Amino acid sequence: MTKWPIGVFASVDAGLGVHLSVAHELGISTVQVHTPHSHNRTAETAEAFLKSLTEYGIELTAVFGGFDGESYADIPTVDRTVGLVPPTTRAARLQEMKEISDFSKLLKCDVIALHLGFVPHDTQCQEYKEIVATTQDLCKYAAANGQNLHLETGQETADSLIRFMDDVACKNLYVNFDPANMILYGTGEPIEALRKLGNRVRSVHCKDANWAKNPGKEWGEEKPLGAGQVDIRKYLQTLKDIGYTGPLTIEREIPQERDRQRAEIAGAVSLLQSLRSELLGV
Ligand code: MG
Repeated sequence: MTKWPIGVFASVDAGLGVHLSVAHELGISTVQVHTPHSHNRTAETAEAFLKSLTEYGIELTAVFGGFDGESYADIPTVDRTVGLVPPTTRAARLQEMKEISDFSKLLKCDVIALHLGFVPHDTQCQEYKEIVATTQDLCKYAAANGQNLHLETGQETADSLIRFMDDVACKNLYVNFDPANMILYGTGEPIEALRKLGNRVRSVHCKDANWAKNPGKEWGEEKPLGAGQVDIRKYLQTLKDIGYTGPLTIEREIPQERDRQRAEIAGAVSLLQSLRSELLGV
């Protein structure tokens, strides 16, 4: 793969991402996908999707897990509903992530990823220890499928995430860095967080946002790439500084406005192409 191939979030079935044909029309060469619903995680679906990837000349770089009942309505709702943290759904969702790992193997993809949820800050509490054990269990399962697990950033500061990853201590645990999430959740200045996470970062989202008036209490506002407060040029410069060469995956999820979504993704592609040529000379 060339350095910094451009990517976009796509969906296997109906979902938040764009259809592969749209990615192809926009000249995009890699995708991350949202995992399809359980009834659609079949060998037939995988085969058909692989065929489309080949047809369009697109490479699949990560499969993102997600669960029924998750809601990103506001920060307290995320805390209550997202990822492997909420205790009442944890065992069932861990099982589902293992099924997603198996489905990703059918897709010949060696990266699975997810939002883990809000990990408790008290590293001595029972809850924290259980989440560490759950993540170890999933890492071990993914490793047996030849996969790495990438944790999406946002809910934790860089320091808390590093501490957590060190406690999990699995060799196949890495970070999917999303600079806009650091702003949206109010968990830290993204460029500084990226420097701290350094070579733990193995995949990234290209997404932009403005800070909320009360960061951490209310959502910031997601913006088209280049129109927010991430500073995309500095973001790419920092990716270069930390030695990141993987895909630049555009995330712009406004499926209710398909035309606008497509136009904004096209704008993001040209911004990334021009910065890539400026910073890497390719
Ligand atoms: Mg993201």
